[in-house]
Amino acid sequence: MSDSKQEQYPGVVMPKCEPLKILKNQKALVTGANSGIGKAVAIALGEAGADVVVNYRSGEDSAQEVVDKIKQFGSKAIAHQADVSQEDQVGTMFKQMIQEFGTIDILVNNAGLQQDAPFDQMTLQQWNTVINVNLTGQFLCAREAVREFKRRGVVSEVSNAAGKIICMSSVHEVIPWAGHVNYAASKGGVMLMMKSIAQEVGPYRIRVNSIAPGAIRTPINTEAWSTPEAYDSLMQLVPYKRIGEPEDIGRAAVWLASDLSDYVNGTSLFVDGGMTLYPGFATGG
Ligand code: NAD
Repeated sequence: MSDSKQEQYPGVVMPKCEPLKILKNQKALVTGANSGIGKAVAIALGEAGADVVVNYRSGEDSAQEVVDKIKQFGSKAIAHQADVSQEDQVGTMFKQMIQEFGTIDILVNNAGLQQDAPFDQMTLQQWNTVINVNLTGQFLCAREAVREFKRRGVVSEVSNAAGKIICMSSVHEVIPWAGHVNYAASKGGVMLMMKSIAQEVGPYRIRVNSIAPGAIRTPINTEAWSTPEAYDSLMQLVPYKRIGEPEDIGRAAVWLASDLSDYVNGTSLFVDGGMTLYPGFATGG
C-alpha cells in the first residue's frame, strides 16, 4: 500500500514474510486477471510457484503487466483474451492452456461485473449481462476444468487433489442488495452452483470452494471508497474498520488452492472484515 493511502486510511500492514512455493508445478487459470482481485490472485498464485494463464476480456497491456510480474517470481505466465460468457471462447482458452502448460490444476473463476439499476428500471439486457458473465461464465469455465481434472486424475507429486476450483462469490451470496438485484442473484447462484458441483465431483478428489469478499478496493466499487465521506460510510458496515485490499483475497486464494486446505470442500470463505456479522447489531437490537 502506498504511503498516501496509509495516511488516508491507516491500519493496513501486510505480512512481510517470504511466501512458500506451495503451488510449485501447478498450472492455474485466473479469469478477469488484468484488474483488481483477479490481478492480485494471479500474482499471488505465481508468487507461490504456480504457472498462470492470465485471462482478460479487454486491456491487453494490463494483462501483459500481470504476466511480466508473475515471470519475475520464476513462474511461467501467458495472457489469453476470452469472454467467459461465450462457450466457444472458453473452449478455445482451455484447449490452448492444455497445449501450452499440459494441464490445469487450479481454476479461479473470478471474472465479474455489475450493471446496477433500481429494480423496476432494470432492463433485460442488464439482467442477462450480469447473469451471463457472473454465473454462466463460471459454469462454462468450471465445466471445462472438471473435464480435464477427471481425464487426468490425481498426480500425487503435484497435489492431493485432482483439481481445485475457486469461485469468486461475494458477501452478496447471502446479503440481499437493493439496486443490485441482478448481481446478488448471480452470486446467490454461484453459491449453490459451487456447492452442487463440489458434492458431485468430490469423489474424483476435485475440491470446489468460493471466496466471498466483502468491500475490496478495486475499480468495480470506486464510488464506495474513493472519498473520505464514502469510506467512512462504508466502514459502518465493516467491524474490522478497514477496507479489504486485493492482496487479502490473493492470500486466501493461495491457501484454498493448496493442499493446506485439502479437507476444505464446498465452502464459502468469507474474507470481509466481518461484514456478514450484522454490524448494525453492535449498537442496536
Ligand atoms: P474489476 O472490475 O477490477 O475486475 C473484474 C475483472 O473481470 C476485469 O478484469 C474484467 O475485465 C473481467 N471481466 C468482466 N467481464 C468479463 C468477461 N465477460 N470475460 C472475461 N473477463 C471479464 O472488479 P473486482 O472487484 O476485481 O471483481 C472481481 C470479482 O470479485 C468479481 O467476480 C466481483 O463480483 C467479485 N467481488 C468484488 C468485490 C469488491 O469489493 N471489489 C466484492 C465481492 C466480490
